[in-house]
Amino acid sequence: MRRLLAVEDALRLVLERCPPPAESAEPSDLEYAIGCTLFEDVRADADHPAWPRSRVDGYAVRAADTPGTLAVAFEVPAGHAPGGRIAAGQAARVFTGAPVPDGADAVVMQEDVTARDGAVTLSERSDAGDHITPRGAECREGDLVAARGDVILPWTTGALAAVGKAKVRVARRPSVQVLATGSELVPIDQEPPPGRIRNSNAYALMAAMWHYAGWPEIAGMVPDTRPALDEALAAALAKDPAILLVSGGVSVGDYDLVPAALESAGVAKVFHGVSVQPGKPLWFGVRGKSLVFGLPGNPVSALVNSALFVRPAIRKMSGRTEIVPDPICATLTAPVGKGTWRRKYVPAKLSYSSDGRVVVAPVHYVGSGDLFGFARADALIVVREDAPARAAGESAQVVSLLGSGR
Ligand code: AMP
Ligand code: MG
Repeated sequence: MRRLLAVEDALRLVLERCPPPAESAEPSDLEYAIGCTLFEDVRADADHPAWPRSRVDGYAVRAADTPGTLAVAFEVPAGHAPGGRIAAGQAARVFTGAPVPDGADAVVMQEDVTARDGAVTLSERSDAGDHITPRGAECREGDLVAARGDVILPWTTGALAAVGKAKVRVARRPSVQVLATGSELVPIDQEPPPGRIRNSNAYALMAAMWHYAGWPEIAGMVPDTRPALDEALAAALAKDPAILLVSGGVSVGDYDLVPAALESAGVAKVFHGVSVQPGKPLWFGVRGKSLVFGLPGNPVSALVNSALFVRPAIRKMSGRTEIVPDPICATLTAPVGKGTWRRKYVPAKLSYSSDGRVVVAPVHYVGSGDLFGFARADALIVVREDAPARAAGESAQVVSLLGSGR
């Protein structure tokens, strides 16, 4: 058998071959930029808030005048600049978000005043700054709001909108061709005859690539015969995808034709075989700027290898600052067996204990063909080579499968 690479070495070989990130041909409309990677630093256009802003509905006052009865000199309606300044003994009616007029240095909540005949009586003392967000407290003009390499999340989108970025420069999402191989496969809308199965991998891998912020397309489904495989590989590679995923046929069985077919299609092999479970037969090579992964056909192996190797490649090619997220440390709620000579990834579910600790439990799962067990997982427990068995209550390192790795 071939020499197997350690997971870290395989990942390094993949990342070393990732071409540099490219900018999307067009800037993105902000409302569709969710999940993209920023290709520019975005700075605040102005101070935010642009004025001292009332946090509540109430009355702007001079703290030195409190407690006491103050004349309400004017109102600051929503969307208006204050029409005047507050003099000694005066208050102004303000609403949440309104600019606090000059002269005032505190706002009193309307619940804490008695208003009568154009005057308000305040029974408590206010301090300067009460219920006011000072100008520029959130950010100053020119401050970095989001940086090149940041993934755009919903709250990033809000901040970008607030500084007027209707269009943002984003990285091009790496294009991914997904080719499923196997003579046993039938399309998912067909009843499989005896001995055949539905092509679930094409869908799982498409979904994984969307999830990891790639731009995937199904390249087809082919039987284990060289002419069919050669033709499909040539067609997929002709599109110069950032990534080509081929599922199935990469092991050492009589019908595992993919490695030889990839090499004759001009893909230069970088490695074949990783010391990982599930997913040992992983094949990786390059052709021009395309990275080519031959993923084992077992559905869980294909998805675990995608999470471990394809997800970081997509992130690197997108210019993401964070490429390989640090594992999470969680407390086991069930025992985990001892390690073997291979790095093991155990499908698991993350949650919180009643006292708020992050806990993790292996899901019921009968092996790398068990897509149904895996469908209950959202994380992988890492069992390092030759690690001792662990009992419930001990801690474990966990890789999250959610999102693009956050
Ligand atoms: P292989 O890697 O081709 O030896 O396949 C390993 C296992 O994965 C076999 O049980 C295959 O039937 C199964 N398999 C291969 N391709 C797919 C696919 N596209 N969808 C679901 N299962 C698959
Ligand atoms: Mg096969």
